[in-house]
Order: sequence, then structure tokens, then C-alpha cells
Amino acid sequence: MFALSGMDRTSEPITNVATRPLTQIEGRASFWSDLRQATSTALLLDYDGTLAPFAIDRLAALPLPGVVPALQAIREQTDSFIALVTGRPVSELRQLLGLADLMVIGSHGWETAMPGALPVTRALQPARSALLDAAAYLAAEHIDRSRIERKHASVAVHLRGLQLDDAATIAKHVNSAWSQIVAEGGVTVRPFNGGLELRVSGWDKGTAIADVLETVQPDFAAYLGDDDTDEDAFAVISRWGVGILVGDARPTRAAGRLDMQAAPGFLDDWARVLAKARRPEQRSGSRQ
Ligand SMILES: [Mg+2]
Repeated sequence: MFALSGMDRTSEPITNVATRPLTQIEGRASFWSDLRQATSTALLLDYDGTLAPFAIDRLAALPLPGVVPALQAIREQTDSFIALVTGRPVSELRQLLGLADLMVIGSHGWETAMPGALPVTRALQPARSALLDAAAYLAAEHIDRSRIERKHASVAVHLRGLQLDDAATIAKHVNSAWSQIVAEGGVTVRPFNGGLELRVSGWDKGTAIADVLETVQPDFAAYLGDDDTDEDAFAVISRWGVGILVGDARPTRAAGRLDMQAAPGFLDDWARVLAKARRPEQRSGSRQ
């Protein structure tokens, strides 16, 4: 159904982790014991800057080594709920990840795809859609069209790879051009790592994960993200668990922090702590 790479994506055994200590979550020393004691768990993951380094060509931002087999292991060897949460369209994320059997919340919450299924897109009012067309048109007066991405409910202007001064000047002009659209209401402009985006209000990563977690109702959940757009998710994840900022320390609503290079190990750890074959042994004595 989806264009996947030819590589065998079946779950590989997790190696060399038995002797490795669990990944430290800065600011949240009890993380793994909290996870171990939960009877139901959920893991929500941003993609760019969290599981995949940034690339000037945004369609070449591939996951870090170890991410894909670890995601497969979580899916196949644990009962944990897992979903990717991204500003990208679902189809684009699936192509980069090479996995179709994970749930993906795409386009900042405007698309949702269950494992192996096509995305369901939330309807957009025609007037909002027309505003996005106008935003793309206005942006094109200041930057090459190849750097303008018209998504279902947003328009992104990608500035990565430009000289810093040029990027700042373009961002200023685009922001100014978009101000007349923002003034009409119903849309907001938000920066992201590598550009800025005019988005229709109503859904964001926070409202999207709250919608999902109110159904899943996990005992314990974690959300990993790196960017300003992830702050919406950090703000709501505390109802169920812990937000983890991936990347350098900065002011954030996340309770914990992790370097991106540690993300594959974190996923391995999530899989091995919750592995069904090990659960009875690990849980004995952890409660009561
Ligand atoms: Mg990100």
C-alpha cells in the first residue's frame, strides 16, 4: 500500500543492551521505574530533530541508526501504545521511516493514520484553505517556491541551508506579509527548527495527543520532541506522564531531557523494559 524501501523491516533482536545501563533522563531519575510499574503505557514521538537529524533537503532526513528496529521491537514485543506525531504529512513520514505499521499523527494533528491504514484528514473550512493559498502566494514574493510547502492545514517556509542573515531577512518579510492574513483570525504563525509556518488554528500536537490519550488512558506516557511545536504536547503530556525535550537544554515545559544521539538507546530501553517475555519477571516485587 505504501512505498516502502526494499529493506527487510522485520524486528531484529536487540543486541548489546543487556549489559548497557538504562538511558539517563536528565531531570527525571525515576523515569524507568515509573515505566516499569505502569500497567499500560504510551509512547509518543516527534520525528525531525528527535529521531532524525535535520537535513537541508527535508525529504532526505532519515532516522538515526537503530531507530527503525527499536520502533519495530516496541510494536512487536510490547503491549505499549506507540505513535509518531509530526508536522509532516503522514505519507511523507512513512516514506522516510520506511514503516507503515505504526500509528502516525501528521500535519500537526490534522491527519491521523492507524497502523497500516490510510490517513484520515480533518476537514478544513474552504475559507481557511483559501487563506493558506493566499499565504503561499504572498510568501513566494520573498523566497523560491521550492522552499514553500503547502500542507493540508498550513504553509511552511523552509529556511534551512540559507545564510543566517538571508534567512532572518526572508523570515521578517514573510512574517510581515502574513500579518494581514493573521489579522483575519483563525490562523497563527509559529517558528519551527528550520523555518516558519502559518497554521490553521484548532489542532496542534497538544490537542492531537490529548485526543488520543483520552481514549488510550495509559497509566504512564512519555512524549519526546525537540521543537517549539512540541511545547503544546509537553503542556498536556504531564496529565499522563513525562515530556522529554530532545536536544540542548532550553526553557521548556518538558520535565526531562535527552540528547538526540541517545534516542535510539532510549527506544531500545523502552522495548526491553516492557518486553512481554520479561514483564512478569521485572514486575514481580515492583508493586504491592
Ligand atoms: Mg521536531
